[in-house]
Amino acid sequence: MDCDFFVIGAGSGGVRASRMAAAAGARVVVAEAGPLGGTCVNVGCIPKKLLSYAAHYAEDFADAAGFGWTVGERRFDWPTLLANKDREIARLGGIYERLLVESGVEIVRGRARLTAPGEVEVAGRRFRAQHILVATGGRALRPDVVGADLTLVSDDVFHLDRQPGRVVIAGSGYIAVEFASIFHGLGSEVTLVHRRTRLLRGFDHEAAEVLALEMAKKGVLFRPQETIERIDRAASGLAVSLGSGAVLEADAVLYAIGRAPATAGLGLAEVGVELDPSGAVVVDALSRASVAGVYAIGDVTDRINLTPVAIHEAMCLVRTLFGDAPTRVDHEMVPSAVFSHPNLAAVGLTEEAARERRGEIRVFRSRFRPLRHTLTGRDETMLVKLVVDARSDRVLGAHVVGADAGEIVQGFAVALKMGATKAQLDATIGIHPTAAEELVTLR
Ligand code: NDP
Repeated sequence: MDCDFFVIGAGSGGVRASRMAAAAGARVVVAEAGPLGGTCVNVGCIPKKLLSYAAHYAEDFADAAGFGWTVGERRFDWPTLLANKDREIARLGGIYERLLVESGVEIVRGRARLTAPGEVEVAGRRFRAQHILVATGGRALRPDVVGADLTLVSDDVFHLDRQPGRVVIAGSGYIAVEFASIFHGLGSEVTLVHRRTRLLRGFDHEAAEVLALEMAKKGVLFRPQETIERIDRAASGLAVSLGSGAVLEADAVLYAIGRAPATAGLGLAEVGVELDPSGAVVVDALSRASVAGVYAIGDVTDRINLTPVAIHEAMCLVRTLFGDAPTRVDHEMVPSAVFSHPNLAAVGLTEEAARERRGEIRVFRSRFRPLRHTLTGRDETMLVKLVVDARSDRVLGAHVVGADAGEIVQGFAVALKMGATKAQLDATIGIHPTAAEELVTLR
């Protein structure tokens, strides 16, 4: 054996698995063809959130007037933001490299491929490994539409040299909604074209509706139950023809229609690893693939495609392979946030899912104007909502739409994970005045 653990992909999951395995005494090699850190660090969570912060300033400047401030001339410079973002991403890449090297992990640059069970080829080298981990993540789907070559996916946005003035976004998932808020906040005109009536499939209906309403109030344009038929070059930019016959003018068309597992060219099917129809590696609760000695974690398994989940899966796998006990992944009560403006964050069941699975539920909600906006005059409301099992009083789900919803829900996720009841939330003293206290004062 050349190594104990060969990891393909140095993204959130792969880096964590490599470092932890090395710390447990394993000889580890990690192969990565792109920049270290994968999607999250380079073209996902981190740069997205930096852009989201940038977009918030527009409202902050406007809101300051209500508190007595006169804010001078405002000008936003896209190249400055992107250059600063690039500098931070490069710094993080350096940290990832140092962490791996200092843990004793060997980094091999190149695209790896399984050549036989227990054997990987990369950069002209062949490695025999006891365990092989596939942690290659996913890739944004590109559309199959006339004019597809004129469109962007999320990766491209992070490298645009100019800010598009008019942006049409296709889709209504996390990425579509987040970029709609980013571009709108930075001053672009944004139209979201989506095929259903509601945004964010899988999220609580009421929360998604409140978010759409608040985004519309800010000026994001929505074209629900609509499709893009084709995209053509026009005199000034692009002409986006919709199914209804309408034609939108745009400077950029961003497709955010989902991501697909990155398994092409890895040689997985050739060595007998089972893939599902979308190309995801089929794994069990111990992240084992169908061939002995091959494992997969993170987006490439298409379970819950979030960085902290990939990291959890990595930790469980390392404990299973190099620790003291087989450790099954736990996908219960995974909180998540959509960094739209306002944020939407949730943990646990939606009202719809709870009603279907538990039958008798009680729903508590509050829709209110945050204190801050009593002086800004901004017509923005917040939603906090709890879904409770009527029989056991256990809180099944918490949903928040509003500023810092992600920060609020993270704390409540601990309580829900521990099985908190509504009575226990009621017994908790609030912090006044906050928006979060609403979650412990719902009657
Ligand atoms: P999602 O799977 O969240 O959403 C895909 C969207 O595209 C849906 O609105 C879907 O509509 C629509 N869609 C799919 N196919 C088509 C089509 N052919 N034409 C028009 N619309 C279509 O994907 P995203 O790309 O937004 O995000 C990918 C994943 O990345 C997410 O699932 C999430 O796990 C992760 N992510 C997480 C973030 C976070 O935690 N904050 C941020 C960004 C990404 P419909 O609902 O009708 O199927």
